[in-house]
Amino acid sequence: MHKDDGYTEEAVGPGSVPLALRRVLGLVVSGAATNRAEIARRSGLARSTVGQQVDHLVGTGILEEVESRRSVRGRPPRVLTISPQAGTIAAIDVDTADSQVAIADLTRRIIARETVVVRIDAGPQAVLDAVSERLQRLLKDNNRDPGRVREVVVGLPGPVDFQQGCAVQPTGMPGWDGYPVAEHLQERLHAPVVVDNDVNLMALGEVTQARMETPLLCIKIATGIGSGLITATGDVYRGADGAAGDIGHIRAVSGSNVLCACGNVGCVGALASHRAVLRSLGIPESTEDDPLYGTHELARRVASGDPTALHAVRQAATEIGEVVAMLVHMFNPRTLVLAGPLSQLRDDLVSAVRAAVYQRALPLATRKLTITATQLKGGSGLHGGIALGTRDVFSPAGLARLLAAEPTPDRQDRVPIPDPE
Ligand SMILES: [Zn+2]
Repeated sequence: MHKDDGYTEEAVGPGSVPLALRRVLGLVVSGAATNRAEIARRSGLARSTVGQQVDHLVGTGILEEVESRRSVRGRPPRVLTISPQAGTIAAIDVDTADSQVAIADLTRRIIARETVVVRIDAGPQAVLDAVSERLQRLLKDNNRDPGRVREVVVGLPGPVDFQQGCAVQPTGMPGWDGYPVAEHLQERLHAPVVVDNDVNLMALGEVTQARMETPLLCIKIATGIGSGLITATGDVYRGADGAAGDIGHIRAVSGSNVLCACGNVGCVGALASHRAVLRSLGIPESTEDDPLYGTHELARRVASGDPTALHAVRQAATEIGEVVAMLVHMFNPRTLVLAGPLSQLRDDLVSAVRAAVYQRALPLATRKLTITATQLKGGSGLHGGIALGTRDVFSPAGLARLLAAEPTPDRQDRVPIPDPE
């Protein structure tokens, strides 16, 4: 969060959070300074001002000042950290066969994570009720105050209107088009809700959790194909309307006439997604016993060297590679991460995509490009959601909300915000 901690030098309006307080907190949140002396040195603020702001942040329960475990002679230094009790972020990653939920503290540490088995075609009410109930239980089981959920971030596997908080004409998601996802979750979890495309969050998770270099392009190959783009400065690039990265309906290079759920023919998502590969091999996606039967069966066939399965995967990889090569020219990413069930099959998919990209793209765009499968084992969307949530909480607007939401239970008197000026 060094590059994008949201602490710009803009003017401080009435009712907003003092700049000095934001600077102090920003240095602690980014890890750039962990004690009062360091903060004073790095911020250029007077020690007395730093002291006032730190006292205030400790008083409201946002920061904690503890004795360092580092053994030094004399008095142990006091170290400032975000208080683990200052708030909770809830993250939801909705997918076709099931959804994942997690709760984390404001240092992005995951406290609990679970899978909720509800198919996306059961409709938004069934899915959102199930994930809210599970989150409420996780909060209770882990002694997290439900009144201190600071933000809920949910990723949906389709085009998302980021401003309105809903999906827009997603394929294979009956009932979700325009459904007020943010409102539904806000009513149950009583916190601000952000709705984003799932691959945007996965891409952010790769940068914040797996520490992948930016600019980064993440491609998810699952029921469909989608991508998320992180800019050089670490922000999600959503485009003008939130549709950036929706690559599943780009026409595949082979010019096939396979019909896509969107109504067009030859879309790369209809030709080379995990679902398309399963269909071409006659493998059902799920059975009564195993909601992820298709994923498991394809992995088994590939691992055993079944030539038909290997051929289908490599053919899909080549189609994807052609599209990815175009994207590499367009965005010149430093890192390309492949995610979704197909990316976890030995190295067949990744190496075939790599081959297609290197054959197509020009040397300047590929000489420092890393192409890899995700190492986050299906958790990148949750990590990205948590990262987005904490960024919002520590943004100037989020911070004003956070300070207004306190005092802590042990300090019922409102602590006035000291103004150094
Ligand atoms: Zn299509």
